[in-house]
Amino acid sequence: MNWISDWALPKIQTLFGAKRDVPENLWIKCPHCGEMVFHQDLERSLHVCPKCGHHMRISAQQRLDYTLDPGWARIELPRAPADPLRFRDQRRYGDRLREAQQKTGMDDAIAVAHGAIEGRPAVVAAFEFSFMGGSMGAGVGEGIVTAARLAVLQDAPLVVFTASGGARMQEGAVSLMQMPRTVIATRMVKEAGLPFITVLCDPTTGGVTASFAMLGDVQIAEPGALIGFAGARVIEQTVREKLPEGFQRAEYLLEHGILDMVVPRGEMRGMLSRLIGFLRPPERLAEAEVAEAAAPAPAPAAE
Ligand SMILES: [Zn+2]
Repeated sequence: MNWISDWALPKIQTLFGAKRDVPENLWIKCPHCGEMVFHQDLERSLHVCPKCGHHMRISAQQRLDYTLDPGWARIELPRAPADPLRFRDQRRYGDRLREAQQKTGMDDAIAVAHGAIEGRPAVVAAFEFSFMGGSMGAGVGEGIVTAARLAVLQDAPLVVFTASGGARMQEGAVSLMQMPRTVIATRMVKEAGLPFITVLCDPTTGGVTASFAMLGDVQIAEPGALIGFAGARVIEQTVREKLPEGFQRAEYLLEHGILDMVVPRGEMRGMLSRLIGFLRPPERLAEAEVAEAAAPAPAPAAE
């Protein structure tokens, strides 16, 4: 009995363990169902698990690649004051920032690009969750303001993919100020008569949910995305009630009228392109109709 637990079991575990360790970067484990998926298959499926359909978190770069037609261009964002409060917890905020910049190759937790979605011009902003949890400080605020200004300038719709833990606490009140700031920026897009579409990805919480992310003309989410303001545990402790199954998940929010649609990643491009087509400003729609009328139309059926 003892030799089994002391010798044979660890031996088997190391054998299997070693097997699993070697191809670590080639095989990616689905965090939902545990299936090992070959990296090329995962890229082909846009990082959606082929077995259970779980939508894995992806980088801002991948998001832009999956959304925009080839040939899109990234916009350089204005630099926000780094570490405005000279904040320090266990470590200096400045050090944390530098580390995140080295890890992700980005200046802050957002990327902005312009290009086209299935041929329709658009400005797209995407959060980078692996940059300090996609938290919104002055840098991210700058990103949203720049994206909104660019959309107005180019007379193009604005699409924002959110993935954020909320406000960046290391920037204190400066970070909270980004909430009204981003709201005003996205209002500019609406006032110019341009579509503003938000795609809420896993997870979208805190100050991002509580500001521009919930103000899209169309509210889309990816399947299974966690979307909310406060965490479920905090709410449960506050209201002292058991929360329903699937609370704060995209499907639950769709059922309760918070979202307009839940769209799988593979269908997102097509859906965004169609929505942009529907939401074009009326005068441009009229122009398009004139163009269509000029084109030979199918003859009306005789009755
Ligand atoms: Zn899976």
